[in-house]
Amino acid sequence: MIKVVKFGGSSLASAEQFRKVRDILLADKKRRYVVPSAPGKRHKSDTKVTDMLYECYALAEAGEEFKPLLRKIRARYNEIISGLKMNLSLDDEFKEIEEQFRGKAGVDYAASRGEYLNGILMSHFIGYEFIDAKEVIRFDSEGNFDAETTNDILKERLKKTERAVIPGFYGATADGRVKTFSRGGSDITGSIVAKACKADLYENWTDVSGFLIADPRIIKNPKGIKVITYRELRELSYMGATVLHEDAIFPVRKEGIPINIKNTNAPEDSGTFIVESTCQKPEFTITGIAGKQGFVAVNIEKDMMNSEIGFGRKVLAAFEENQISFEHVPSGIDTFTVFVHQEEFEGKEQSVLSAIHRLAEPDSIDLEADLSLIAVVGRGMKSTRGTAGRIFSALAHANVNVKMIDQGSSELNVIIGVSNDDFEQAIKAIYDIFVVTRL
Ligand code: ASP
Repeated sequence: MIKVVKFGGSSLASAEQFRKVRDILLADKKRRYVVPSAPGKRHKSDTKVTDMLYECYALAEAGEEFKPLLRKIRARYNEIISGLKMNLSLDDEFKEIEEQFRGKAGVDYAASRGEYLNGILMSHFIGYEFIDAKEVIRFDSEGNFDAETTNDILKERLKKTERAVIPGFYGATADGRVKTFSRGGSDITGSIVAKACKADLYENWTDVSGFLIADPRIIKNPKGIKVITYRELRELSYMGATVLHEDAIFPVRKEGIPINIKNTNAPEDSGTFIVESTCQKPEFTITGIAGKQGFVAVNIEKDMMNSEIGFGRKVLAAFEENQISFEHVPSGIDTFTVFVHQEEFEGKEQSVLSAIHRLAEPDSIDLEADLSLIAVVGRGMKSTRGTAGRIFSALAHANVNVKMIDQGSSELNVIIGVSNDDFEQAIKAIYDIFVVTRL
């Protein structure tokens, strides 16, 4: 049995955190391949090493003095090394990095050094082999991740290696140019490694004990989610619940490898399991609630719209012309509403309205701003009657006016539109009815 373990930046921010990580690895011999992030924040107002590297490289690129900042970055690693009483010097590495910065080696190279150095440090500390991600994670000449080649190379490499540290976040093109994934991309590396060695489990260690049913900034001490399916997670993260990089799901999902989100600071917590499918009954009817604020509803009216072929297409073409994506399009007999992001829409509003008039010739258009969308997600809703009824009676009791309802045919989620002012109240009411009262 093989487990791939990825540790996030806050799990590796200090010597103390590194010790916790070593204990976690020692506690289970199956944890054979380790993917570290760069050192993250030690406390709230701290700066992540990756952010320091971006800043440092920007100075180098502008021809400004970057050495003092590079020294500060080196101090971050040295603090960990001395805290762990290790006999390791990264001086040669930093000399090389300085030279590469002077030679303008590229922003991706610069950002990747956080994980690279942390990987070397960790491999020395725990005695696992170091595999530079540059050798095994492949990008094509256009800079896109090359999943197939990577899998071939990595599979072979891991066959020969019992235990290894593979830094997250970056790889390289065939001619050796370093490329990074988008921010938070070490999660993706972990998933790629899990796929290549056909791991039984991908453990993703962070600073929370998995996903919560609702945002803790809105609900005090919300309950955790024990098991969530990939599809449920997709619905929730689309709505803003983020713990894991979205692209980290694809490699393991295809192989049927579950992901376990775990807490480095509370390893005894079981965390959240993300799985392809499960017959385990969810603890509550709903799995999670997530929401986003800041939407505009564009309400379009036209008599006899229902019998006009192509009306919806013409309206949506007006949004396409203006490069605006839409979120939802609930419609009635003579009405058609398009939900868009307020931020994206505001600057282009008049141009969209005139395009709708030109293309679709409506009777009237009316705009409603400052709206929120809330997604109530759960595989358990399919087999439970009256879920929608309970949601709406809870909202009515909480005095929340529902402006839009959308239930996908999968019965996996119900999306509700409310005014921004009612956003928190609505989430509290829904959490209360399903989780606190357990209806
Ligand atoms: N260190 C990178 C970042 O801060 C990647 C990661 O931590 O996953 O985005």
